[in-house]
Amino acid sequence: MYISIINMMFWVRCNMKEYKAGIYLRLSKEDTNTNNSIEAQRDITINYAKAHDFTVVKEYVDNGWSGVLDSRPALNRMIIDIIKKQINMVIVKDLSRLTRDKNKTGYYTEIFFPDNDVRLISVTEFIDSGERYEIDDTIMLRGIMNQSYVADISKKIKSVKTDMKKQGKYVEKNVPYGYKKDDEDKYKVVIDETVSDNVKLIYEMYLQGCSQGEIAKHLTKLKIDTPKKYKGQNVTINEWRNDSISRILKDPFYTGKMIINKMYTDYRTKKKYKTPKKEWIFKENTHEALISQEKFDNVQQMLEEKFNKPQNEYEYLLKGLVYCGHCKSRMQYKYRTRSKIRNKILEEPQKCWYYKCRMIYKFPDICNKGHTIMENTLNEMVINIVKQKLNMINIDIATNKITDEYKRK
Ligand SMILES: [Zn+2]
Repeated sequence: MYISIINMMFWVRCNMKEYKAGIYLRLSKEDTNTNNSIEAQRDITINYAKAHDFTVVKEYVDNGWSGVLDSRPALNRMIIDIIKKQINMVIVKDLSRLTRDKNKTGYYTEIFFPDNDVRLISVTEFIDSGERYEIDDTIMLRGIMNQSYVADISKKIKSVKTDMKKQGKYVEKNVPYGYKKDDEDKYKVVIDETVSDNVKLIYEMYLQGCSQGEIAKHLTKLKIDTPKKYKGQNVTINEWRNDSISRILKDPFYTGKMIINKMYTDYRTKKKYKTPKKEWIFKENTHEALISQEKFDNVQQMLEEKFNKPQNEYEYLLKGLVYCGHCKSRMQYKYRTRSKIRNKILEEPQKCWYYKCRMIYKFPDICNKGHTIMENTLNEMVINIVKQKLNMINIDIATNKITDEYKRK
């Protein structure tokens, strides 16, 4: 009798699968529920493993990672370990630790884990896929609940923010260059006198006909800190770029109004998107203006003209043939509206095509000349030279030569 019990136990042991469990712990930044702290999750999962005699061989922690992201460092490591057969059991506090995307829940529970022979246990939801993988439908249901939880939270946060914006409160983290947060009221912005004149200078220069590149160069020359550097971020070169100038020239914030719905966040991917301009909702007079509405409108009109290039019916004459005399790089064919030539302001703005050596923006070490030439001027020069050369050729002799050659062959 005694022997047969031993035999039976031996038989049971042999048939019992050896589990190598991995515990997966995740905490997102927004999660303030203390039951979800990494420590709490660790306690719950490890205690469960101990109570059921499962050996925990690895712990995977994604601290500060949202459950809607597909790719998280620890999750990725766990997936690799599963594929390498280093673990064959995953224990989580609840399924939403694994993912908050309902499609992904289905993917893990119905495809990836079963395919890789992994047993899944969600402690607080009493889910255990068991040895033969029998998970009930509640898993899919939980997946849906977990996803709607995120949607709900993000909607709540968004509506609180929108309400505050409608009251004229500034709720964003960053303040446009030229402004700062009020020391006494964190929902208010005031003019930052240290740099506000630079914003005015940018607008003035543009209105006087300087290009964005010229403005950037000018500010760099004056050794004015770029917005990034001024904010205290690490920058390798303190050099103004066209896109900083462009951003400042296009931001209606400088006229004293706030855009309530400038960006929206897709709660599933956490990515931010810009709202189309025509859908913007403005709240007027939320802060002191740096630029008058009239000046701002003029600038917008000039910017628009610059980008509304006329469509050329034909390829331009010298396509692919114009190179910078200094650095030998191909010059770019560009279009712009000029309102001044050599510091002389024109009565009528002139629209023109021109060639420019762009090295100055990309590799100023190679060529910092920024050579520019109007297409009209260059075409005229080239045509004159071609005419001169043609005059030097005796057409009769040339055609006879060609006919002879043709006959011979
Ligand atoms: Zn050049």
